[in-house]
Amino acid sequence: MQRFQCYIDGEFGDGEARFESIDPATGRAWAEMPEARKADVDRAVEAAHKALFAGAWPRLPATQRGKLLYKLADLVTANAQKLAELETRDTGKVIRETSAQIAYVADYYRYYAGIADKIEGAHLPIDKPDMDVWLRREPIGVVAMVVPWNSQLFLSAVKIGPALAAGCTMVVKASEDGPAPLLEFAGLVHEAGFPAGVVNVITGFGPSCGAALSRHPKVDHIAFTGGPETARHVVRNSAENLASTSLELGGKSPFIVFADADLESAANAQVAGIFAATGQSCVAGSRLVVERGVKDRFLEILKAKAEAVRLGSPLDMATEVGPLATRRQREHIEALIARSLAAGAKVVTGASAPEGDGFYYRPTILDCAGGRSPALEEEFFGPVLSVASFETEAEALAIANDTRYGLAAGLFTRDLTRAHRLMKGIRAGIVWVNTYRAVSPIAPFGGFGLSGHGREGGMAAVLDYTRTKTVWLRTSDDPIPDPFVMR
Ligand code: NAD
Repeated sequence: MQRFQCYIDGEFGDGEARFESIDPATGRAWAEMPEARKADVDRAVEAAHKALFAGAWPRLPATQRGKLLYKLADLVTANAQKLAELETRDTGKVIRETSAQIAYVADYYRYYAGIADKIEGAHLPIDKPDMDVWLRREPIGVVAMVVPWNSQLFLSAVKIGPALAAGCTMVVKASEDGPAPLLEFAGLVHEAGFPAGVVNVITGFGPSCGAALSRHPKVDHIAFTGGPETARHVVRNSAENLASTSLELGGKSPFIVFADADLESAANAQVAGIFAATGQSCVAGSRLVVERGVKDRFLEILKAKAEAVRLGSPLDMATEVGPLATRRQREHIEALIARSLAAGAKVVTGASAPEGDGFYYRPTILDCAGGRSPALEEEFFGPVLSVASFETEAEALAIANDTRYGLAAGLFTRDLTRAHRLMKGIRAGIVWVNTYRAVSPIAPFGGFGLSGHGREGGMAAVLDYTRTKTVWLRTSDDPIPDPFVMR
């Protein structure tokens, strides 16, 4: 079995305990992981805290921070195949996706490398004579980063990149499910030459490792990606250290199709939106909201595409849908499908697991046209599309917004004035019109409501890893007058 290590204070180590990682394609253990518990968390946070104030990092000019980030990006590119294969092996995400996504990961690091020396403060036109006032932008401090299993290299890059550009130090907690790629990535951080303690990478279980990290007194900010229930724990933990939080949570994103849309193109986008990453994507377009007049035709196209999807080994370049990441995830999907069928949903296709090893599940479409259904409300986080239909534009908008989530939405229509109207009315952090699941380092990403708060990507994400310091400088040599009068 392959063995992986934690990376704390510039050194690789075995962790306080060890656990086995399961290959989702076979259901069998394939690697041994280091389990960080409270003592490792303490060491990692102390290292990050020390590196924030002492040693080379706080004195490094911003341009040099940028150069280290460029180097890291180049190392990600040079090691892309290995990282992609590890992510596929440990999480079941298909290799054609992990190898494409790793190129993006390098792009995110390059984008933030370029921003490192463009984070400016300000000089304020203060309303008092003989006084100069500046706003300095300083790193927010020690950041705890907690990520889920899906796309760990990507979901950590959107945190590590801007945090390093801003000058923060950090402890990154990889998910206990599939931590291999992130633990391997720590080696690239080391090779790039970041000072010890600036980036620490650990893994461990939520209630022990994640909790100890998010409530640690020396953590200043928690950047969390995961489910809303876990986010509640994280927010409760932050009541102890009063750290600020950014939360990137789940979704139940509507995918609205009008009768005038290019149905073939919309169907391809819908397939990408729900079956890519085996549906384990926070922005999965998991609620199809389709105009009644074209519903049957659209479902026919989708059914044919879903049944033609190549299910298989995630390490095979031809495979389109791989296994789910964990047995637990498949059990969650099966239970939610059973409740939805009991509530009246009809199976259009799928709703079963193929024979054999691994945590596979067939691409599934559930018609929930009859009304309310758990399938339209709760997140499957798997390859399951739930279908609702509408007659009017107002009804489409009402269905789209009938959710406590608010991460993303897709809108397919050729009528651009309608697209503009709806784009304004949809409650979501991202609206894709006649496209779906497009991302870029330049475009912010994040949601409302149960989908969390804060934005990743773009310049604004860097500012979230800074705080301002207001500096007042009196420019007069005259003695300070009456000390009892506030000026
Ligand atoms: P999860 O919430 O179970 O776990 C996420 C991370 O939190 C893991 O590292 C876990 O160890 C840790 N954790 C668990 N309990 C904790 C605790 N008490 N304190 C601190 N940390 C704790 O999420 P998951 O099931 O691994 O991933 C699926 C969820 O993530 C879905 O809801 C999905 O939509 C969401 N997600 C959101 C985005 C986004 O950017 N919005 C991206 C990917 C996934």
